[in-house]
Amino acid sequence: MSRFLTEKHQKLKPYTPGEQPKEREYVKLNTNESPFPPSPLAVKGACCEAEKLMLYPDPDCKELTALLARELGVETDQVVLGNGSDEILNFAFMAFCDDNRPAIFPDITYGFYKVFAAINNLPYKEIPLREDFSIDIDDYLGEDGTVFIANPNAPTGIALPLSDIERILKANPDRVVVVDEAYVDFGTESAVSLIDKYENLLVCGTFSKSRSMAGARLGFGIGNKELISDLTRIRYSTNPYNVNRMTAAAGMGALIDRDYFISNCKKIIENREWTAGELLALGFEMTLSRANFLFARSNRIDGEELYIKLKERGVLVRHFTGERICDYNRITIGSREQMQTLVDTIKSILEEKQ
Ligand SMILES: *Cc1c(COP(=O)(O)O)cnc(C)c1O
Repeated sequence: MSRFLTEKHQKLKPYTPGEQPKEREYVKLNTNESPFPPSPLAVKGACCEAEKLMLYPDPDCKELTALLARELGVETDQVVLGNGSDEILNFAFMAFCDDNRPAIFPDITYGFYKVFAAINNLPYKEIPLREDFSIDIDDYLGEDGTVFIANPNAPTGIALPLSDIERILKANPDRVVVVDEAYVDFGTESAVSLIDKYENLLVCGTFSKSRSMAGARLGFGIGNKELISDLTRIRYSTNPYNVNRMTAAAGMGALIDRDYFISNCKKIIENREWTAGELLALGFEMTLSRANFLFARSNRIDGEELYIKLKERGVLVRHFTGERICDYNRITIGSREQMQTLVDTIKSILEEKQ
């Protein structure tokens, strides 16, 4: 830290991204990336576009916006694009929270929410999940703040039905409710269908997980056109070129290749259910995940010990140190072969312990 850094930033605790180790090749199940490559159409789009990199991109990404709007069944002025959905979330903190409207989110959820609140000098309130990690909707009905709900939640994978999201929306008509749908494509109903009914609803989505484009950084926000113009105002005040040419072209390719997307989501869901069955047979306890990961613990081995032993054997999962969740590991769902390796490795670790 230099002596020039402002005090506010000295105190900042940055988000800790999952490891991206280079020292050896791991079976990488720690950052919820897709095991499948991006669609060939996405790759081709990005490559062709590379020739035009001397030109700034279209700040409105008109073609991609139109394609995404059509895919989601919304109007183009109900869409804003971001450099990952992280950027859209940050914009939402900037646009819709202040001293009188703290950010409200569960105590166990996406770790970045706290950081977005801190970097923007915003108050926030964490609401404890129930003992079983489910959200008690009643806790959100009397809160006067901007609610952030990941649905399905991370790192638990537990999903809320739309009727619960609607209860939160109805109880907070003068406050924005942000539904972060990073994992929605793995089996949860999207709240996008509700944007015309609730003017306070903002839905965030990403191409990082289900569309195999984590490295391209493409996310989006969906809401009524006034909310979207608020976010666009912030976007134009920070970086109008937030989505680069190659990413926009890749995004279009990914949207056009619908069959590939659907077939990959199906494979992940199948592999998740298969892995859950195997882990259950090994005595693991898991939350009911609707995402591309499982959140699992065993009473035969400590969470951190399992993480370390898996890593020594070349399998990387995500372990969190939080008090309520340190017994658990979050295991990304990869290919069937990767999941077989995970299960075999866990079996041998447990056998050695006996
Ligand atoms: C991965 C993730 C995001 C952000 O992903 P981007 O790569 O920035 O689009 C947002 N919310 C949750 C809950 C996530 O897990």
